[in-house]
Amino acid sequence: MSSDNAKIRSLFSVHDDAAEEEAPTAMDNPFQSQEPSVCQYCFGTGMEVVEGRGARRCRCRTQNTQSRLLEAARIPRRYDECSLQNYYPTKGNGTQLRAFQYAWRLAREYPAVDRGLVFMGPVGVGKTHLSVAILRTLIEKGVQCLFYEFGSLLKEIQNSYNPISQTSELKVLEPVFNAEVLVLDELGASKPTDWVRDTMMQIINTRYNDKKMTIFTTNYLDGRRSERDETLEDRIGVRLRSRLYEMCKTIHIEGEDYRRRFDAPQS
Ligand code: ADP
Repeated sequence: MSSDNAKIRSLFSVHDDAAEEEAPTAMDNPFQSQEPSVCQYCFGTGMEVVEGRGARRCRCRTQNTQSRLLEAARIPRRYDECSLQNYYPTKGNGTQLRAFQYAWRLAREYPAVDRGLVFMGPVGVGKTHLSVAILRTLIEKGVQCLFYEFGSLLKEIQNSYNPISQTSELKVLEPVFNAEVLVLDELGASKPTDWVRDTMMQIINTRYNDKKMTIFTTNYLDGRRSERDETLEDRIGVRLRSRLYEMCKTIHIEGEDYRRRFDAPQS
């Protein structure tokens, strides 16, 4: 062993007393700063170095912090149970298997990932399920996440213009700008007025400039199946579609509406 190597002290496993510690205080909580980021103690690895002692399970993995992150992520109750473990690609459907693999890889490799995802496909093929499943896995790693259905976000921004409402536009947008990982569900679903497009551009550009990862879902495709079909580009504009190509990998998912299974005839 070289003398240099000899100077490097090996890491010893330290008793996981983080779970028994008191809930982290505001000062302690790595996710309450103005600029949320990957956990400052473990950088998303889940292991925290304790000086002079070794390594242990990071404090961001403790139950308290995780439930706080989960609550702050605003995942709709309807998707409470969605995880990577209970996404079942339909047999023989390569698009669903591929979508699952991309979701799984992104969740595993984050933060060493430089692009988000656009899940594109018809209603009920599991786009939102997979997006939520990614957030859930990242939250377990201590990453600060946020979920918004795009139409609800626009409504909240509009409500903030109401003089009686106590919120300002910035108060609504700040968490959307700052979330370490953001899911914007149902992109393109809102009527594409100039204001809607400007707002989308502002959100997406800000996150793009700050190199923050965003995952989108949309029911609109890039191609037309019939002349009457609108494409994603028709809905969000050429500039925004182009920006998304750069920020995200587009994943097409095909298949039947999963919810139809609940309507299958009883045998
Ligand atoms: P989309 O966002 O594509 O419209 P959702 O993700 O909302 O579809 O899926 C609709 C419902 O079907 C959800 O409850 C979801 O959990 C479930 N679902 C869809 N695809 C799958 C799948 N492959 N495995 C398990 N559940 C699925």
